[in-house]
Amino acid sequence: MIQFKENIIIAPYTVFKIGGPADFFCEVKNKEELKEALAWANGKGIKVFIIGGGSNILVSDNGFRGLAILNNIKGILAVLRGDFSEITFGAGEEWDDFVNYAVERGFAGVECLSGIPGKVGAALMQNIGAYGQSVDKAFARATVIDIKTGEERIFQKEECGLSYRTSRFKTTDRGRYVIADVTFSLKSGDPMVSYHDLKSYFIDGSKKPILTEVRNAVLEIRNKKGMLVTGGGNFLKSAGSFFVNPIIPKDAIGKLRPLAAACNASNPNQCKEPWSWEQKDGRYKISAACLMNLAGFEKGMRTGSVGISSYHTLALVNYGEATASEVKNLALEIQKAVKEKFGIDLEIEPDII
Ligand SMILES: Cc1cc2nc3c(=O)[nH]c(=O)nc-3n(C[C@H](O)[C@H](O)[C@H](O)COP(=O)(O)OP(=O)(O)OC[C@H]3O[C@@H](n4cnc5c(N)ncnc54)[C@H](O)[C@@H]3O)c2cc1C
Repeated sequence: MIQFKENIIIAPYTVFKIGGPADFFCEVKNKEELKEALAWANGKGIKVFIIGGGSNILVSDNGFRGLAILNNIKGILAVLRGDFSEITFGAGEEWDDFVNYAVERGFAGVECLSGIPGKVGAALMQNIGAYGQSVDKAFARATVIDIKTGEERIFQKEECGLSYRTSRFKTTDRGRYVIADVTFSLKSGDPMVSYHDLKSYFIDGSKKPILTEVRNAVLEIRNKKGMLVTGGGNFLKSAGSFFVNPIIPKDAIGKLRPLAAACNASNPNQCKEPWSWEQKDGRYKISAACLMNLAGFEKGMRTGSVGISSYHTLALVNYGEATASEVKNLALEIQKAVKEKFGIDLEIEPDII
């Protein structure tokens, strides 16, 4: 039997530690409880909002008018299919527990995604990525529940609209489904060491690293950057990267390079190479951190209780008792400066509730 509580402050359920009260709040531990909670909210005619690990949300100081559902749907199932293993994790399982599970069993494909905070469900919604890997490469299908009808559906990978840090659950079907479990298709293989930070980490090694070594390297690098919330890591109150790396057309990179060079010349090392990456379609992904630096927003900057992480330019941080409004104001200031200087719109990554 689910307990529906009233007037519960959301801040403790978020990594930012920001957010006012939800009118109603409950925790669900399986699909049946989730369906019950959705039916309860529908019966009352109120909105629902799903909370996973709270690591990619900035909740308003006024809170949420409706039912906040803490997703704690657990469960692990592994099935062998030829060369591949299909591994299903409940959406409320910790993402890093899934990565650890895969790496320990010798499955390649998610080792670089070690240490990303949050739950498995949101990892799919956001198509999380780091150090050259992203969820879409390993993902097979997901079971979802329709928020309005309670109907259960299965979406195969090609139906999920996965691309850079997004999916149908974040775009066309935003607020329509709750992800209940996620199935990955993995096989044993070598780890990926393609990203510059990881390459530098292993530069002196005489032999190729194994999966566990790459996982440990990623955890160590993340910890040094204050980006490791799991496993007692050294972390700050944030939502990780606050802005997505923008992808710009090929002709725009030509205009950007001299602008960046001019800014760098007046204040060297603001934008270290590599800061742009050519995409398969010929466009360029640009480091949002680099654009921020060039626009005058650097690591460690603070205004009152909000600021920029001293380890990682992209992470806006709650240094004390910051409010959501303060974080939003700083984000707006950054977006305005980057737009004025480079004509590029920085898109906010976390969900603003
Ligand atoms: C220190 C730090 C480092 C980070 N590093 C990275 C990184 O390297 N790469 C990266 O991609 N991200 C990173 N992030 C962002 C974040 O960890 C991911 O986006 C993560 O997947 C969010 O998971 P969550 O469970 O915390 O989601 P939440 O913050 O709880 O929710 C995020 C959104 O998903 C929705 N949601 C949650 N669960 C479900 C569900 N089951 N069904 C439907 N909707 C749901 C919520 O309603 C909300 O809109 C980082 C964040 C922090 C704080």
